[in-house]
Amino acid sequence: MRLAVLSDIHANLAALDAVGDELGSFDELWVLGDIVGYGPQPNEVIRRLQELGARAVTGNHDGAAIGTVDASWFNPDAQAAIQWTTTVLDENARAYLAALPEVRRDGELTAVHGSPREPIWEYITDAAIAAANLGAFETRHCLYGHTHLPVVYQADGAHISVIPATASSPIALDARRALINPGSVGQPRDGNPEASWLMLDTEAGIAEFHRVRYDIALTQRLMREVRLPRWLVERLAIGR
Ligand code: ZN
Repeated sequence: MRLAVLSDIHANLAALDAVGDELGSFDELWVLGDIVGYGPQPNEVIRRLQELGARAVTGNHDGAAIGTVDASWFNPDAQAAIQWTTTVLDENARAYLAALPEVRRDGELTAVHGSPREPIWEYITDAAIAAANLGAFETRHCLYGHTHLPVVYQADGAHISVIPATASSPIALDARRALINPGSVGQPRDGNPEASWLMLDTEAGIAEFHRVRYDIALTQRLMREVRLPRWLVERLAIGR
């Protein structure tokens, strides 16, 4: 199965559409949460995901936007963006977000936003946290997002290998357990502003990471028009 994996789209329709143009043929599209928040087009992004038949899990921003997650933990910019998002979400978007599960399991794959043991909030930012989570899911591989950083953590006996995800070299997956982050479509934070996504060939065991250029200036203009916080606008251009 060719599985397209997207995460942290954050209401950035220009980035999502650029990725959509590059997807080519796929069997399923999985989305790892934070569909809204930060960006200017939450309703449009959700409609596009519906058109694409995406299977999604919920993220902390998705829950905050419909009031099921406490946004007081967010930094002030994220809070301001969530407040704005809450005021513009239409009925279709609210219903869509409210129906998202925290965890999806299918065959040898689990999907969450944060981490398997703490699907909404935990950030997997190093090998120690990854190691603690490798025992928290039952499938061979777990797809996660939340950090906006593309990477693979693979269990090698007691050792954890950290495999940086680069677009130039596909990563071979095998029977070893792995945590796999596709990076962020709508707000990359690894210093590369291009939208990040993953194509997983589940039969061949190949993880191909991709970067796609998109019209950053368009998203920034739409953000300024609705007065989203300045840093959220600026960071898109630097990928931080
Ligand atoms: Zn996010």
